[in-house]
Amino acid sequence: MPPPLSASGRFDLHPAPPVSDETRAAKMKNPGFGRFFTENMVVIPYKDGAGWGRGILKPYSPIPIDPAGSVLHYGQAIFEGFKAYYQPDGSIKTFRPEANANRFNASADRLAMPNLPVELFIEAAELLIAQDRAWVPTSVGESLYMRPFMIATEAALGVKPSNEYLFVLIASPAGAYFPQGVKPVTVWISEDYVRAAPGGTGFAKCAGNYAASLVAQHQAKNEGCDQVVWIDAIHRKYIEEMGGMNIFFVYVENGKTIIVTPTLTGTLLPGITRLSLLEVAKELGFGAEERKISIDDWETDLREGRMTEAFACGTAAVITPIGTVKSTRGTWVIKDGNQGPVSAKLRETLLNIQHGVVPDTHGWMHKIV
Ligand SMILES: *Cc1c(COP(=O)(O)O)cnc(C)c1O
Repeated sequence: MPPPLSASGRFDLHPAPPVSDETRAAKMKNPGFGRFFTENMVVIPYKDGAGWGRGILKPYSPIPIDPAGSVLHYGQAIFEGFKAYYQPDGSIKTFRPEANANRFNASADRLAMPNLPVELFIEAAELLIAQDRAWVPTSVGESLYMRPFMIATEAALGVKPSNEYLFVLIASPAGAYFPQGVKPVTVWISEDYVRAAPGGTGFAKCAGNYAASLVAQHQAKNEGCDQVVWIDAIHRKYIEEMGGMNIFFVYVENGKTIIVTPTLTGTLLPGITRLSLLEVAKELGFGAEERKISIDDWETDLREGRMTEAFACGTAAVITPIGTVKSTRGTWVIKDGNQGPVSAKLRETLLNIQHGVVPDTHGWMHKIV
């Protein structure tokens, strides 16, 4: 008997038998982040000439890679991250998944990897979430984190783009990022290490960017900080990002509250949370601007009271307030180290949209089941 096919005919469906409710419940009680995975995964192979082959939904399991597989040597590896949220009506939706699919292809272009058609990316997510929907937590702040990635699998040591790739999608239940309530972080401005330079891979979500960031993160920890803040590679003074998140500053100018985020220069990762907050802020009556902000601006605008808050944003934590900034020039405290009202309001608004607590007026939510 031929294996069951997805409605589109592009995926074979060979799901694993579900684990027991007890086993799942034990893992979902305190899922943390990225520690447990659902029963299944989706894999789509690619070969030069043939293009993307038939995908498969199959049990979560190790991926065989030849020791000469090019991802292991030359690092052609990209990934994405988005979430599936339980809705009050019992349905499950994801947030702007086409934006992730498009950014995945922008990353693929930069690493000389093939593009995956957006509809295949979305269908893979629909199949996996529908199959493993029991893993989508029901509380606001919790979600099923989706991790699509693509790796180069050709067994050859010549330095060139691989002629074979694997797209893989796995899913992991994610607990509330701040289970004890939102806690501002302390950041270290790194003047020793650079995340991204013009012409490099800063705008791409590639594995190597993260590998290169770990030593700076380690240094931040040694300075008593939670996260590293990156500055630009050329002038060594413009703020770019915080760890793996985009960064915002809250200003009060002529009585108006404005949220300001560094301009996308090609070295910053164009975050979907960043883009969404720029829109949400305007609807809440705030100004929203993209500008260059230097370390000096950060220090003086804070001291002179024009800057009232700073926060980072990304899919994993939504919004993380910044309470203390440390650098070789000293330590500055923002809002006495507490969460500010603007970041709190933005956080609540975006979470409410994602969890269906307020209507989705932007067409951002994508219904899965
Ligand atoms: C993924 C990522 C972000 C945040 O992007 P979102 O789409 O908002 O999750 C920001 N900076 C870096 C370096 C990233 O890798």
